[in-house]
Amino acid sequence: MTIYSGPVFEMAATQFGVIADYLAIPEDVRPRILMPKRAVTVSCPIHRDDGSIAVFEGYRVQHHLTLGPTKGGTRFAPSVDIGEVAALAVWMSWKCALAGLPYGGAKGGICVDPSALSNREREALSRRYMQEMIPFVGPHTDVMAPDMGTDEQVMAWFMDTYSMYQGKTVAEIVTGKPVRAGGTLGRREATGRGVAYLTRRVMNDLQLRISGATAVVQGFGNVGSIAALELYNDGVKVIAVSDHTGALYRAAGLDIPDLITHAAKHGSLAGYSSELACDPAEILTLPCDVVIPAARERVIDADVADRLRCRIVAEGANGPTTPDADLVLARRQNEIFLIPDILCNSGGVVVSYFEWVQDLQQLFWEEEEVVRRQYQILDRAFDQMVVRARRDRVFNRTAAMAIGVERVRDAKHTRGLFP
Ligand code: GLU
Repeated sequence: MTIYSGPVFEMAATQFGVIADYLAIPEDVRPRILMPKRAVTVSCPIHRDDGSIAVFEGYRVQHHLTLGPTKGGTRFAPSVDIGEVAALAVWMSWKCALAGLPYGGAKGGICVDPSALSNREREALSRRYMQEMIPFVGPHTDVMAPDMGTDEQVMAWFMDTYSMYQGKTVAEIVTGKPVRAGGTLGRREATGRGVAYLTRRVMNDLQLRISGATAVVQGFGNVGSIAALELYNDGVKVIAVSDHTGALYRAAGLDIPDLITHAAKHGSLAGYSSELACDPAEILTLPCDVVIPAARERVIDADVADRLRCRIVAEGANGPTTPDADLVLARRQNEIFLIPDILCNSGGVVVSYFEWVQDLQQLFWEEEEVVRRQYQILDRAFDQMVVRARRDRVFNRTAAMAIGVERVRDAKHTRGLFP
């Protein structure tokens, strides 16, 4: 039992156990690599619009400092607790190490339903959270970014609150900011763009025709909607999408640009069409070429994994597949190619890294350079995963995580016990 105990941290620990066995990491070294270096819980009081005071609980978990500052998003969601945040921080570590970024993993969040807040309340909560975090973060300590329920505007409030305290602009304290406030071109699109890029790469490797292929996308936030749009622009028929309000299905392919316009105007897919509505629980198992879970953790369990009827699973979300489902997918790996989360959605943190570098240097890149360098890093990580999976005849997730874990292990071994 630890303060992190709960289903999501158990899942991260189980996955780590598989990798540690495969890498033959001695028992006494394992907690050193898995357990977060530090975690903080804060209370964030705000004035509600009706004049009352509400207090929200916020967290930040910094997994390790072995390779540089910690890096990771901040989530505003009702499901957030310290165990989920810790698991997400651990996954960020393997993700950053696999991409070769000079970071450890972190994650933070507030247990709140952001759709129940007015814009003023959201600003007050964002600012208060960052204010509470000031002693624990810094451009060379821990750098935040967006995640579920947060966006560029929240990052701008975080940056502004930290900067007020410092008495100067410190753009490099967070990434995922609006371009007009020190952000980088290509960050908003980066995660979805990376998901689509790797999906196309696997489709080419499997000799699947891209134009006319079919895809299902679960989640229509920043990751799902951009991935769907990129694929739509390549001629892929996105036959089903869903968000927390419901799902839509159209065998001939949905009009993704139109759906994005609707979601931007109304905040969700709700109200788009009652004719196209379908059961959200069923979309992952529709027959199609590509399934993209881009919403929450643990949506593909062993039963769903058994019933998948696709060629590629491209994990846009963090932790969408349970360890039990991994056993099924490993057995089915000749039928279904898995692009594991720590690779598939790493385009976001890769471009966050570019944003941090640009802010530190005050030298800004063209979007074309951002995208070119992003794809270069994704290709390198993908190649390393495939080579490793073939060499050791292991599942893609095992290969990808092992590369990340061993980089952290080796750096810790070389440095000592501090980080
Ligand atoms: N929240 C994103 C993730 O889970 C991005 C993190 C970042 O850019 O630092 O990868």
